[in-house]
Amino acid sequence: MKVSTYISVIVPCYNEEQVISETYKQLSEQISVIGKPYEIIFINDGSKDATIDILKKIAETDNRVKIINFSRNFGHQCAVSAGLKYCTGEIAAIIDADLQDPPAVILEMVKIMETEQANVVYGVRKNRAGESKFKLLTARWFYRTLNAMSEVKFPLDTGDFRIVDRKIINQFNELKEKNKYIRGLISWMGFKQVPCYYDRDKRFAGETKYPLRKMIKFALTGLFYFSKKPLQLATSLGTFCIGLGLLYFLWMLIAVIFSIIHTVPGWLSIIGIIIFFGGIQLLTIGVLGRYIGNIFDETKERPEFIVNETINF
Ligand code: UDP
Ligand code: MG
Repeated sequence: MKVSTYISVIVPCYNEEQVISETYKQLSEQISVIGKPYEIIFINDGSKDATIDILKKIAETDNRVKIINFSRNFGHQCAVSAGLKYCTGEIAAIIDADLQDPPAVILEMVKIMETEQANVVYGVRKNRAGESKFKLLTARWFYRTLNAMSEVKFPLDTGDFRIVDRKIINQFNELKEKNKYIRGLISWMGFKQVPCYYDRDKRFAGETKYPLRKMIKFALTGLFYFSKKPLQLATSLGTFCIGLGLLYFLWMLIAVIFSIIHTVPGWLSIIGIIIFFGGIQLLTIGVLGRYIGNIFDETKERPEFIVNETINF
């Protein structure tokens, strides 16, 4: 009889050749402490370096290591989704490949899950070493704005580092949306979710795979998938502008009747108004475009990711 897996560790990897062996070593060391059957699923998200070769070598020597090899780079969130789809554990841990989230914290999370009878234990960062001031500030600002705008409340200072139980995994795999904002979706699901506070380390090696461009894209997914407020922004802005326009018109009328101004109405003011209102129109069309783009993405029925090969499954 096949022994069932207790915990699946899900590790998305994109160009992580410098850390991946160390990650494997530390993860196996820590997870084996639990003393129950486990699997470590590495998702190679179209790395352009030797990540996949290193992973294959590891998988040859240890059949608890499983690999999902994507056909190209689909992004961190898709990689984690793939891991959740393929994992067989009663519970799953999601952790970055770069050892910024210490593997030892997973043990703490498992303990908390047991004592609190929780369905999700999510990591909350107390300290974040080796992160730029800019990243810290933007992250802080972003999560607070998102919370203010979103219909769902998100825990602050939380990434995807967490453990989830089978109930959550199954619910997650039922979700049809393709652009997944995982931390938001899991938080949205409800059940019992409890925090686990930890200190976030520096990257073990290599550099961030989230340049500003990807960070903004990720943040916008969170915003436009979880909030309808930007859509309502168009209405408020429009109303505001109509009011402003009316006041301006009234003022001109009075000014002309009572000869307060004598100058020929200048083109500068007209141009100014055109630019201002043009800007507002473009802005609101842009907001609409975002949502239409999202609808477009979701109706295409393309898969979230394409798997090239799987190993040890
Ligand atoms: N990652 C991925 N695909 C991508 C970008 C990143 O699978 O397109 C993985 C990466 O290998 C790492 C995790 O996602 O395991 C988080 O990335 P990173 O550490 O670069 O982000 P940061 O911690 O700087 O926000
Ligand atoms: Mg990192």
